[in-house]
Amino acid sequence: MTLKDLPATAIPTDLLELDTRDPLAHKKAEFLLPPGVIYLDGNSLGPLYRRVPERLAHVMEQEWGQHLIRSWTAGEDHGEDWMHLPDRVAAKLARLVGARPQEIAVGDSTTVNLFKALAAALKLAPAGRRVILTDADNFPTDLYVAQGLSALLGGGYELRRVPNTELAAHLTDEVAVTLLTEVDYRTGRRLDLAGLTAQAHAAGALTIWDLAHSAGAFPVDLNGADVDFAVGCGYKFLNGGPGAPAFLFVAAQHLESAPVAISGWMGHADVFEMARGYVPAPGARRFVAGTPQVLGLSALDSALDVFTDVDMQDVRAKSLSLTSTFMALMEPLATRHPLELVTPTEPADRGSQVSYRHPRAREVMAQLVARGLIGDYRTPDILRFGITPLYHSHADMWRAVQGIGAVLDEGSA
Ligand SMILES: *Cc1c(COP(=O)(O)O)cnc(C)c1O
Repeated sequence: MTLKDLPATAIPTDLLELDTRDPLAHKKAEFLLPPGVIYLDGNSLGPLYRRVPERLAHVMEQEWGQHLIRSWTAGEDHGEDWMHLPDRVAAKLARLVGARPQEIAVGDSTTVNLFKALAAALKLAPAGRRVILTDADNFPTDLYVAQGLSALLGGGYELRRVPNTELAAHLTDEVAVTLLTEVDYRTGRRLDLAGLTAQAHAAGALTIWDLAHSAGAFPVDLNGADVDFAVGCGYKFLNGGPGAPAFLFVAAQHLESAPVAISGWMGHADVFEMARGYVPAPGARRFVAGTPQVLGLSALDSALDVFTDVDMQDVRAKSLSLTSTFMALMEPLATRHPLELVTPTEPADRGSQVSYRHPRAREVMAQLVARGLIGDYRTPDILRFGITPLYHSHADMWRAVQGIGAVLDEGSA
């Protein structure tokens, strides 16, 4: 059996009813998704936005092919202005994460931006504080960057990893900075970004938030929560393509005082003056280190247009409806298979994914992928399903669970 063999008539009418009232239903047509596939991995690599291929073809054939080096600026006969592409992308991202455009620098990977953020935050933190407080299960790259930077700074810092349910209790006067990912990549648990930021500030610490599984998945309000630093990933819920440029957020009140660890020429106030001394550009542009990644930035710039007419509150409402539906449909399977839900059932406590533990998770996911039901396996035993309201329907949740049930039933037979 493949997904295509499932009879459409069997989809419960209450789910079809929810889909007919879906304000985002038309967005699916804006993605080029392969037929016969339910893609539950947009939290790992977002799919291809319909306009990206033509945009990249234009960039290559016209902007690069014909205008060559002239494309770095805007000319009389062309308007590329590649030099300011990071700033234009920053303006589109700002709206999605509740920031001012001048607080966002676009470019490099999330990892490199974590380095820039942590280096700046450690310098700005009150003197004598040596603890970087993090979630024991934070994403590996966040932990590794903290370890590497701490070693570079002479090893005087301690990366303190604590369970994410106990963070508040560990906010002592030793903590320089909290380094947290809002949504856990394995469980999908969402931390209270605003609450923890307020608690960290009350304890005198600065905050860095990793928005890899937040930006584009639901509304984020960095300014509203008074966050100090944040980073985000361009290729997950933002659909910017494999290895898309990431972003760094630096709150306006820190821009003048935050040291720029990678002070490159593209973040200089006057790039082509070629001055011998570094003078930072205004705003977060100073954190753009080297030459903008034009191909990747162009794909991301185009992909972000899918959000132009989208209200992120609608995205959140639909995400919660889809994830609740998915969890409810999975319940009967959990009674006859060793599936353990690890995603919080409380809506406020989850992002836009649903995960289960299963002793044969790796094998089960391989079988699902072979049938066109593409999710993720994460060590040691996690089945992870990313739910993306821009191109999923409630009927998709039903079809996905039918497929998962078929694979599990066959496997145990
Ligand atoms: C995906 C992900 C990253 C990605 O980092 P890259 O440098 O872009 O590879 C970082 N942090 C978290 C929490 C992630 O989920």
